[in-house]
Amino acid sequence: MTRLIFLGPPGAGKGTQAKILAESCEIPHISTGDILREATDQGTPLGQKAQGYMARGELVPDDLILDLIRERLSQPDAQKGWVLDGFPRNVTQAEFLDRLLQKLNQGCDRVVNLDVPDEELVTRMLKRGRQDDNETTIRRRLEVYRSQTAPLIDFYGERNSLVYVDGNLPLEEVTSSLKQLAQP
Ligand code: AMP
Repeated sequence: MTRLIFLGPPGAGKGTQAKILAESCEIPHISTGDILREATDQGTPLGQKAQGYMARGELVPDDLILDLIRERLSQPDAQKGWVLDGFPRNVTQAEFLDRLLQKLNQGCDRVVNLDVPDEELVTRMLKRGRQDDNETTIRRRLEVYRSQTAPLIDFYGERNSLVYVDGNLPLEEVTSSLKQLAQP
């Protein structure tokens, strides 16, 4: 059983790597960013509420995310493992996830911190060309990462479940380090 949380700044390659890894382990890749983008594309109530925050590079309010994660992790396909990408994003979400996993009788094997230098992050995001990948939003997302998400490195580091993976290597090399970690 593989259950992994991907931490790391925006542009580190979490989405790409989480997707490859989840496919190879045949478990769901759960990306809150993907779920929110789909909701905004479809104009659902969730999407309408999230849109402004995403465009500004802010985190969407926790109450929009927590129910969504509770439901997703309760689905049958999530009982055989998962890769979480983009959640948790702050300490409140991480504490919620702890309680939720206890309730669901699930654990988390590893928290992967995908490490990439700042200059490289900006270059990668500008190339990606997603709607929220303009320079102002990128800058804001990096600030939000540092102030709200980076504290999770200590949060998980204290429990020894954290592993650093160098994300500044060719894609295949990063994938192969991650696959070694994901082996049950
Ligand atoms: P991502 O694809 O993970 O970079 O997420 C894109 C955007 O979706 C972020 O900049 C946030 O606005 C929003 N988002 C994604 N995941 C979360 C989360 N766990 N909590 C709050 N906002 C999120």
